[in-house]
Amino acid sequence: MAGRKAKVEEEAPLALKRRARKINRILSETYPYAVAELDFKNAFELLVATVLSAQTTDVRVNLTTPTLFERYPDAQALSEADETDLQEIIRPTGFYRAKANSLLSLSRRLVDEFDGEVPARLEDLVTLPGVGRKTANVVLGNAFGVPGITVDTHFGRLSRRFRWTTSEDPVKVEMDVAVLFERRDWTMLSHRVIFHGRRICHAKKPACGVCPIAALCPSYGDGETDPMKAAKLLKYELAPGREELLELMRGGRTRAELREAGHGLGA
Ligand code: SF4
Repeated sequence: MAGRKAKVEEEAPLALKRRARKINRILSETYPYAVAELDFKNAFELLVATVLSAQTTDVRVNLTTPTLFERYPDAQALSEADETDLQEIIRPTGFYRAKANSLLSLSRRLVDEFDGEVPARLEDLVTLPGVGRKTANVVLGNAFGVPGITVDTHFGRLSRRFRWTTSEDPVKVEMDVAVLFERRDWTMLSHRVIFHGRRICHAKKPACGVCPIAALCPSYGDGETDPMKAAKLLKYELAPGREELLELMRGGRTRAELREAGHGLGA
């Protein structure tokens, strides 16, 4: 933690890359448990959950999807769903009429054109109804192990605060950030930056005074710098150490249970 703003006005490309990688290293130590926060068992479930996550929290989606997937376990079943029944199940996620419509079109396309399977290529995924680059990268990175940068609202905002990019365009943000990191790091980087945005570097009032990357951040001071006041802005209980968390997981605690217990895995 540091009470000064990182100076980056004249930052050379190599210095930018080094600073970006240091930020990633510190975020990896801060959030060793960073994962996709949506619960899923396969690519189909992740795709559907990601579509549902628009304009709502992952926690809300995770409360909704068990019932949804019990009733419609695959694209074939979902493509034959009664629209009103589907709307009722997904209603808690908001915009449920539009989302039900998207899910029906999406599953029908999967059945008609991809034998009911989720394709593993970006160019195919983005042709599916309701699936943009962000959703496609989430699915590629987390269900297929293909590295991808997920530019959601948190990732875009933080990338600009870090001066990794100046763009508001998600595709340009993705390209600007991609050149700063090894391809193999893209997926985990996305999780860590999104975790940081949800927990510390909030949109309205970032908690700069308790931020572990303050010394590397040119936007230090955009939020609360007083450590006591900043600590009150945190949106999660301090997570346990890696060992403690692994111990809990070894003890059979699921991610959902850990989240419920407040171990930094909330929305
Ligand atoms: S909380 Fe403040 S110091 Fe930390 S990354 Fe966000 S803007 Fe930078």
